[in-house]
Amino acid sequence: MSFEYEAVIGLEIHVQLKTRSKVFAPSSYLYGGDVDPKSVEPNTLIDPVVLALPGALPVLNKAALEQSVRFGLLVGATIPPVSNWDRKNYFYPDSPKNYQLSQKDFPITIGGEVEIELPGPSRNIMGEHKVIRLNHAHLEEDVGKLSHAGAGSLVDYNRAGAPLLEIVTEPDLRSSEEAVALLNAIRMLLVAAGIADCDMEKGQMRCDANVSIRQHGETVLNTRTEMKNLNSISGVKNAIEYEFKRQIREVEAGKTIRQETRGWNAETGRTYSLRSKEDAHDYRYFPDPDLMPVQVSEADQARLAATLPERPYLRQRRYMEEFALPYTITSVLVPDRLLCEYFEAAVAAHPANPQGVANLIVNDLLRELTAAKKSGAEENSFAEENAAEEVAAVSLADCPLKAEELAGLVKLTDEGVISKQQAKDVFVEMFQTGKSAAAIVDAKGLRQSSDSGEIEKIIREVLALPSSEKPIAEFKSGNEKAINSLKGPVMKASKGKANPQVVDQVLRRLLGEL
Ligand code: ADP
Ligand code: MG
Repeated sequence: MSFEYEAVIGLEIHVQLKTRSKVFAPSSYLYGGDVDPKSVEPNTLIDPVVLALPGALPVLNKAALEQSVRFGLLVGATIPPVSNWDRKNYFYPDSPKNYQLSQKDFPITIGGEVEIELPGPSRNIMGEHKVIRLNHAHLEEDVGKLSHAGAGSLVDYNRAGAPLLEIVTEPDLRSSEEAVALLNAIRMLLVAAGIADCDMEKGQMRCDANVSIRQHGETVLNTRTEMKNLNSISGVKNAIEYEFKRQIREVEAGKTIRQETRGWNAETGRTYSLRSKEDAHDYRYFPDPDLMPVQVSEADQARLAATLPERPYLRQRRYMEEFALPYTITSVLVPDRLLCEYFEAAVAAHPANPQGVANLIVNDLLRELTAAKKSGAEENSFAEENAAEEVAAVSLADCPLKAEELAGLVKLTDEGVISKQQAKDVFVEMFQTGKSAAAIVDAKGLRQSSDSGEIEKIIREVLALPSSEKPIAEFKSGNEKAINSLKGPVMKASKGKANPQVVDQVLRRLLGEL
């Protein structure tokens, strides 16, 4: 007997918020930027609160609270007027306090939705969009890191107390692709809003996946297992796929699924049982007596709402409709807020041709930025051979060209002052020298002539040449292409400066008069 099964998946996503200090303690966590916290000496980012020394009291980091509220507003969640802090008690040396400060019954955000995009039939075609409901998001502190070396274990509390927002979805996801799409969508939202960088390799985004199975068409929620600490996109994808198949195998063999916590072994490509799942009461949650409940007023919400960017998928649809940009171009622009701002500034400077502006940004500007970054990395690293390949994503922060200058080049091309081909070369020079398009065009004498009087004079001379007789006759007898044999000599006589569109117009008119 065989059924068609579907996966039912809910994710718990831990995101490290972009704040300068820890969530309840004054220590810095050197978040993001160029500093990788993992490269910092162990146990140097600590203080009496992080270590829970007697008498040290926690104080809530306002920035962490505000970033959490901004996230809630971004996903359309409810921000309850009051939220408060609980102790999650457990005994393990990654926590110096033997409890983790977290939120159980009164989290900072409740509900909300995230729009996801599934992979399309090809990279050039927009995939299906779906809305995933969130259950809530709560703020908590991260714990320290244990390294098990030889006979002993080492503990590093640098990460302890770092602000984590735990985003919990409803069990709305139906496949590993949807889970991956959700992670990407959340990352795009958080990066756009400057809430978090979500670099999974730096541990800034981690995920637990809850998976159960049921027959297609059923609405029950069956017993689930929870895979802990998936810290890469491929880990999330593979662990869910493995677990889906494993549960089907168990059920088909007549066994029941046990509710348990499982680990993921990327080397064997399997999940394995860690422990039977602990329930909330195992943690003996109780309200933290050291921290006050937090009130977030309507006025605070309004102030924070005003700082939010347009949501990426909304922006993408707007670009496609308002500027008639193709999907491929928008999917390069939209994940990068600075790139979007750059594009919009350039369009504001030259509103007539958003597509030309977008093309120049996505093709030429990004190519030059990547090349510049690569050569910079090569210069700076004699020791590391692979450094050039490890270049981080390009950033507009390094862009020597203002959006208005780039727009100026598109404008010169659109006005026929230079050809599209010339524009490519001018662009490279603008990028390298920081000079304006007009200055380069003038210095090189590239200005095309659109003076139809002058062009007409040249064309008349060319038409009078004996070598023109044959193409003229052919054109007259209906061979459209014969006109090209006349354009060549005209361009040559103008030393390449005649605007090809003007040449075409005038040539057709004069041929008509013959
Ligand atoms: P707990 O209180 O044990 O943490 P929650 O009800 O808070 O459990 O759910 C945790 C996560 O598990 C959520 O993302 C939720 O969507 C998901 N989840 C709950 N039930 C199921 C199920 N039957 N199958 C798959 N995922 C589930
Ligand atoms: Mg839970």
